[in-house]
Amino acid sequence: MNRNPLLKICLILLMPFATMAQKSNKPQFTKADTLRGSITPERAWWNLQHYDIQVRPNLVNKAIEGSVKIQFKIIRQGKRMQIDLQQPLLIDSVFYLGKKRQSLNYTREANVAMINMPFGMKANTEGLVQIYYHGVPREAIRAPWDGGISWTKDELGNPFVATSCQGLGASVWWPCKDHQYDEPEKGVTISVRVPDSLMNVSNGRLINTIQHEDATKTWVWQVKEPINNYSVSMNIGKYIHLKDEFVGEGGKLDLNYYILPQNKEEAERQFAQVKPMLKCFEHWFGKYPFYQDGFKLVEVPYLGMEHQSNVAYGNKYMNGYLGRDLSGTGWGLKWDFIVVHESGHEWFGNNITSKDIADMWIHEGFTNYSETLFTEWLSGKEAGSAYNKGARKNIRNDKPILGVYNVHNTGSGDMYPKASAMLHSIRMSMNNDEKLRQLLRHLNKKFYHQIVTTPMIEKEISLYAGYSVKGIFAQYLTTTQVPSFDYISSMDGKTLKYRYSNAVKDFYLPLQIKAGKEVLVLKPKVDQWQTIQLTPSQIDNLNLEKIENYYYININGRKEVQIKMN
Ligand SMILES: [Zn+2]
Repeated sequence: MNRNPLLKICLILLMPFATMAQKSNKPQFTKADTLRGSITPERAWWNLQHYDIQVRPNLVNKAIEGSVKIQFKIIRQGKRMQIDLQQPLLIDSVFYLGKKRQSLNYTREANVAMINMPFGMKANTEGLVQIYYHGVPREAIRAPWDGGISWTKDELGNPFVATSCQGLGASVWWPCKDHQYDEPEKGVTISVRVPDSLMNVSNGRLINTIQHEDATKTWVWQVKEPINNYSVSMNIGKYIHLKDEFVGEGGKLDLNYYILPQNKEEAERQFAQVKPMLKCFEHWFGKYPFYQDGFKLVEVPYLGMEHQSNVAYGNKYMNGYLGRDLSGTGWGLKWDFIVVHESGHEWFGNNITSKDIADMWIHEGFTNYSETLFTEWLSGKEAGSAYNKGARKNIRNDKPILGVYNVHNTGSGDMYPKASAMLHSIRMSMNNDEKLRQLLRHLNKKFYHQIVTTPMIEKEISLYAGYSVKGIFAQYLTTTQVPSFDYISSMDGKTLKYRYSNAVKDFYLPLQIKAGKEVLVLKPKVDQWQTIQLTPSQIDNLNLEKIENYYYININGRKEVQIKMN
């Protein structure tokens, strides 16, 4: 209890400011964020089975009209169904397609429609709803990061149109359950009607084209495997089609490339990287996850995106990231960033999808790590480590990698290089590449076409690492501190004292350090010194400063100084 009245007044005066300061640090979320980012009661009672999307874009007015049929399984009776459709798109009508077609009432709140469902729907049966809609969807501002629809023209003046909506959500251009936790088990059919001089390329396989009398054509694409809805895409252009095939772990895989004719030669040269990339990723991650739907690259007017079985490509047929190396080491110029990174997402992002976008590091961290593995595939293990370390210069440590759950919030952009550096550190501590390979393949098998959370991934990695990675995950995913490896070696070099500092309490990352032909294993404790005696060979060959080349930790070492007392 404070008995000083003056101090009490000061504290009261300060309080509102303190509260304000606290508030401003915390992101503020709205009801709309909760509707978007959580499994609301209006979402929870039904389970997606299939989407049938039929759209007709108007390339002149930058508008769209169409309908989406949503097939779902009824888990338990629900009164209202939440469907997301972002403004300014308008819903025209909603029908329940049962024994008879029945019009349904709905209310709209912000970017959501709450549809009143008919009575008498039984659990464990299926339902079908059709939503008609139209409007002028959000135009992409800086695709793919600030996405929507890019209505552009190619160099020859032909329409060149593409969707991109990761983060923003598929509901920016079609009505859906806009949350990653639920994917349509039986896939999606996408029919897009365009002028018949053009072509639409969507995900999966082309199953039909319908010529109409008004000089338009409908391109019907079918995706048979579950798909995250931000992957569903529409790409319109005056494309030509190149074909190839890859014989991999799942048999024959069709490779289809849809590109602008003026880029044919460059595409043939650049896409030669697809097969080695697939070979490398199948080696490390297991079979390509979408053999049924095939593999495609489709040229788009923006950099690129991991659209499942239909990777959007706009890297200008250059190696690196638009000709740049994000690692600054030169290794990143040996391959095409978009071919490699976006295809890596077929395993991490599309096959294994995070339930909440707060866990998006599962997509970006592992996929960023696929770049390290491909560098290693081409140029050797040291090159891979150098690439991984080089990419650390992009780490900002501005905020945690994990976002806020249930409000459609992502964490720091560090989810790319820092999560990848974390994975590389775990790998180095395992010092067993075959084990690592088994782990990565195990993840893609165990969670094949599934939705996961960070604790689920943590559990599996711990099994293969041989120790709990809980502390590592806590350190790198929830704090912005870089652990420090502190050491003091004795004057004669025979004794080594070491510990971790600047780390969470249960941070545990064993270090396996090469010392000549030997490997020295250290298990530093946080804020607690340990001492070992080194062998003559270790004294000669140990270079502790090199640890940071392989582990994302700072090194803070010195030689013991003996102070003579008079
Ligand atoms: Zn990515």
